[in-house]
Amino acid sequence: MSVRFSAAAWERSYRRTVRLAFSRVPYYRDQWVRAGRALDEPLPTPTGELADQLHRLCPFAEPYDPGAEPSLWIGPAGGLRAALGEAGVRGRVPVLEVRRAVLDRRTLGLGGPPYGVLLDPEATVVHERRRRELNAPALKLAADAGRVVVVGERAAVASFLPELAGVEVKVLERVTLAGAAEGALVHDPHLGYYAARAGCGRVHLLWRRFHARPEGGALAVSALGRRRPVLVAVVPDGGGELGRCPGHGTPILGVAS
Ligand SMILES: [Zn+2]
Repeated sequence: MSVRFSAAAWERSYRRTVRLAFSRVPYYRDQWVRAGRALDEPLPTPTGELADQLHRLCPFAEPYDPGAEPSLWIGPAGGLRAALGEAGVRGRVPVLEVRRAVLDRRTLGLGGPPYGVLLDPEATVVHERRRRELNAPALKLAADAGRVVVVGERAAVASFLPELAGVEVKVLERVTLAGAAEGALVHDPHLGYYAARAGCGRVHLLWRRFHARPEGGALAVSALGRRRPVLVAVVPDGGGELGRCPGHGTPILGVAS
């Protein structure tokens, strides 16, 4: 896809993803089976219904093996990097992300900034000492650089600020679509990061990575070109509507009131 947004190219990319889904992925092929005919559009799926479906969301030829690979819901590093870029955050400042589990990832994608995980205060650990051990490498990244970008829900990020005293901290609040009016990066547990507030103040869909269409007062979001898992017509919680940024000419998300 070209660098500049083209609605026609965007739709073509979406159609390719839909074709892949129906022809090679059990979850979507089963929609045809249940309908008793070939569907043009995938049926919208509320995100909450996807949690235990990973094995059916990968192509027949590339099945998911939970015994041999980590959960695919971890998502690609490029997702957060793209969201940060849309929010105007670029460069080499270390990025710390609050997550429920640690992740063996040292940079945010190939050639990306240093990356570390801060364990969500709600995450269960065997002992507080273990929590400190797990958070230590990320906090050291921040201390060494003297500057850091922290991504997470507001309360969780706030709980780490005392430990980041003396470090210049830029906070990017992670929200669901329902909270998009407040936050910087819009996240769904299955789609990952799919939108971000740009410099114009509007919430931009990451259109190079995602397609969205209106679906009964909500949005159906599809991950473009992603093969494992294949995600089409996923409906994030929180309603929402699709628009076009008057300044950038690219898709934006509004939150239905
Ligand atoms: Zn804009």
